[in-house]
Amino acid sequence: MTRTLIVSDVHANLVALEAVLRDAERGGPIDGVWSLGDCVGYGPQPAECMARLKGFDATMVAGNHERAATGAIGTEDFNPDAAAAAQWTKERLTPEEKSFLDGLAEVEQQSSFTLVHGTLRWPIWEYLFDSEAALGHLALQQTPFGLVGHTHMPILVVEDRTSFDGCQLFRLADGERVDLDPNMRIVLNPGSVGQPRDGDRRASYAVYDAEAMTINLHRVEYEIDATQKLMAEAGLPRWLIERLSTGR
Ligand code: ZN
Repeated sequence: MTRTLIVSDVHANLVALEAVLRDAERGGPIDGVWSLGDCVGYGPQPAECMARLKGFDATMVAGNHERAATGAIGTEDFNPDAAAAAQWTKERLTPEEKSFLDGLAEVEQQSSFTLVHGTLRWPIWEYLFDSEAALGHLALQQTPFGLVGHTHMPILVVEDRTSFDGCQLFRLADGERVDLDPNMRIVLNPGSVGQPRDGDRRASYAVYDAEAMTINLHRVEYEIDATQKLMAEAGLPRWLIERLSTGR
């Protein structure tokens, strides 16, 4: 396996996922896919997104939205729009699809990488936004490299015991490359495919090249209005439809 596509927070946005797959394959064949959770929820095509990832035999971890979509957790901690979308998703998935989601682990290890949706401290819920959460996560990370999602923000955390915070956080922009060194400990968030929240409405993803030992961050345009039309037809909450236009 040399080129692995890293996606997170697809959020049932198949139009965005297809754009990501096309864009990633332009750089060469994709040998594997890692999904960091929240493949479903918010968007209009949860089953289609699951099927697409399963077609790649993707390694998938569970996020809070996978758990809510099956009823494994309640939606008390969700905001009203997220809870409404979770309920909508739950009503549409088949028992087979739900049992597939229920079978997903919260943490997976692939070679030198640990995959988790939130953090290793609180796998489906904690947001890795700051150095405190990053250090809590890194203390539990047994591989040099970690991959997380959940915040919908592409960032890189580099452990740095010489710095005051113990680590450094960097925002990742389109086209940025991270050179991996087995002597360093990092955590990377590829951003969100289906609902970016960093002010850039383009779908976000990353590609790990095992030969070059690099991870590249990419952004790609997709037909946002096609997804929005499907969401409106499904009667999904207006705010969830609108936020795709601004990436907030
Ligand atoms: Zn999410």
